[in-house]
Amino acid sequence: MRRKFLTICFLLIFITSLTLGMLFNRLMINNYIETAFSTALSQGKLISIFLSENKKNYLPLFRLAQFFANKSDYRVTFIGENGIPIADSQDNSIIFTSYKELPVFSTDAVSLPTYRIIPSPDNKNKILEVFAQKVTIDRQPVVLMLSKKLTFFNDFQKKIAGTIVFSILFSGIISVIFTIIVIDKAIKPILLLTQAAKNITLGKFNTSLSINTHDEIKELSNNFIYMQNKINNLLQTIEDKANNLQLILNNLQSAIFVISPTGHLILHNDYAKREFHLFNYCDSIYDYPQLKFITENLNRIILNNKTINLKRTNKNKVYRIKLNYINNTNQIIITAQDITQIEMTEKMRREFVSNASHEFKTPITIISGFIETIKLGHIKDPQQISHFIDIIEQEINRLSLLTNNLLELSNSENSINKETVNKHINIYNSLNLIISLYENMANEKNIHIKSSVQNINITSLISQDWLRTVIGNLIDNAIKYSNNDSNIFINAHVEQNKLFISVEDEGIGISNSDLQNIFRRFYRVDKSRNSKTGGSGLGLAIVKSMVSNVHGKIKVNSKINIGTTFTIILPL
Ligand code: ADP
Repeated sequence: MRRKFLTICFLLIFITSLTLGMLFNRLMINNYIETAFSTALSQGKLISIFLSENKKNYLPLFRLAQFFANKSDYRVTFIGENGIPIADSQDNSIIFTSYKELPVFSTDAVSLPTYRIIPSPDNKNKILEVFAQKVTIDRQPVVLMLSKKLTFFNDFQKKIAGTIVFSILFSGIISVIFTIIVIDKAIKPILLLTQAAKNITLGKFNTSLSINTHDEIKELSNNFIYMQNKINNLLQTIEDKANNLQLILNNLQSAIFVISPTGHLILHNDYAKREFHLFNYCDSIYDYPQLKFITENLNRIILNNKTINLKRTNKNKVYRIKLNYINNTNQIIITAQDITQIEMTEKMRREFVSNASHEFKTPITIISGFIETIKLGHIKDPQQISHFIDIIEQEINRLSLLTNNLLELSNSENSINKETVNKHINIYNSLNLIISLYENMANEKNIHIKSSVQNINITSLISQDWLRTVIGNLIDNAIKYSNNDSNIFINAHVEQNKLFISVEDEGIGISNSDLQNIFRRFYRVDKSRNSKTGGSGLGLAIVKSMVSNVHGKIKVNSKINIGTTFTIILPL
């Protein structure tokens, strides 16, 4: 910019100086010629007067010419009317030169005085020849020519050229300095604006501009600052929104992928990275082998341009996959939600409903069958009727047990009923009280309950009722699934601020394959045996739920025909 200004300025100065110099040169030359011409004329007049008074007529003609030349500072030449020189003050050989061709001497004679400018013989100078007037010498008309070398021409032109060069250089330097100062002042704001604009292209929106001019540039800078602030605010808003969106995306409990129709991975959230171990960056979703369960048949789905819901299994987990084709952006949003837990709960719910209905149906069928038989009046034997009523009572008891157990389980699984308040109990007294409740039942099978319980007071979330249900269920099972004449050992002690309670029997034991299922609702190892023992299959499910309500753990060790030990570990 600055260089352009300087060049233009310098060129203007150069052209102006040159034009002025040349004009001045021409003017001076014209003026000089005019002066030399009029001087020659006046000299000619003097010579004419001199001759008319017949002074020095005695001198030969060339001497006369020399005489006049000495007086007038001009070369004096007398030329005959035929154009042939007669005498010359400098060189007599001039008489061999003819001026015949000149208009002055031709028939269509140009009136005197007149002049011409011719180059000198050595071509270095110019010569002014003034044909001044006609004089009479020896009664003959003669044209008086006064001539002079215009040496001034060359000197003057040299001087004028020097002046022009000097003025160009001088004004050039001055103008360069001046232009630099002026231009610097003028273009500084533009340079500042240019830099600020460059900064914007580099993403820096906080360039401060201090422009103190009071012109259009100031207005431009004000508008620029306004625009910069606007862009800055806009970008900040966009950035905030993008951050919020990213935050939301990253905290979603679903994997999200945004891809192009060719599979180019545009975006995926932190959950997706964690869930599918996407720690290496890949350009395409197809490059991740662990996502094959999502990407297989993806092309076909993309071609259909539709929203599609799929359920796919990957590494023991069930995912609900949704592919959404966004027409506007030509992008596909894929969400993959882990629904393993939901699926399991749903399966459990179905199982529970089916098991519960089955459990209820059996006693109800039995009860209604016997009532029907009695109602029909076919059975007359009062003893048999009494036996039927006993069965009905037994089934009603079973139904009642089932309903109570279900209620108990529901209560314990209900989060409102979770234990939150610490209670103080003496573990020795509490457990012995519970054991005493099962003495009769144990005696019927000649089973001895032996207890080894630490006599300490404990503070924990468990209550006397809690102990009665949980330990009661375990003792009940131990009696039920033990053969006659065996022992049950109950142990309770505190270790490392934890309460350990174990119920050990010498009963039938549980196989390894059944061990992992015994805590499931309605699960029974041997259904036929169970109907005899009168269990509902809910006892251990209740125990487990109640133990977890007080942040405890339950362990089970068992060997077929050797015995089973349930151990409960509770934090104090
Ligand atoms: P149930 O009402 O049938 O006893 P539980 O939930 O209490 O239901 O127990 C589930 C199953 O676990 C029982 O049917 C039984 O087969 C097995 N079981 C529980 N306790 C014992 C034990 N001490 N010895 C052997 N088997 C047991």
